Amino acid sequence: MTIFSKIVSGEIPCNKVLENEEFLAFHDINPKAPIHILIIPKKEYKNFQEVDPKVMVGLTKFTHQVAKLLGLDVSGYRLITNNGSDGGQEVMHLHFHLLGGAKLTWSHLSDSDSHKFL
Ligand code: AMP
Repeated sequence: MTIFSKIVSGEIPCNKVLENEEFLAFHDINPKAPIHILIIPKKEYKNFQEVDPKVMVGLTKFTHQVAKLLGLDVSGYRLITNNGSDGGQEVMHLHFHLLGGAKLTWSHLSDSDSHKFL
């Protein structure tokens, strides 16, 4: 069972933003932006590569609702999913990072590696 499934079951608490039967949104414990929300399907999928594409329809609608609730639909936001080892995924339960509340910079590569791609 992943740590996020423990959050879904209530075994571990979270700072909840929105929930329905299939999805849950809660604040990231280590925020990388003024607003940093994690959006997950309650059912465990390892990551984006493993998810049933049909789930993405509901997840998209739910993400729109979360963004609207926080006013990010107007100010803008970034939506990220880290997939696997090179993607930097730490929790093996599909989740999307919804980031906003400030003008975000774009530094997705580590400093040591970035020169190779410039
Ligand atoms: P990732 O590196 O994409 O797998 O992201 C995992 C994210 O989960 C990180 O941003 C962590 O800060 C976050 N996280 C881990 N445990 C918790 C928790 N108990 N409550 C909220 N966020 C968490």
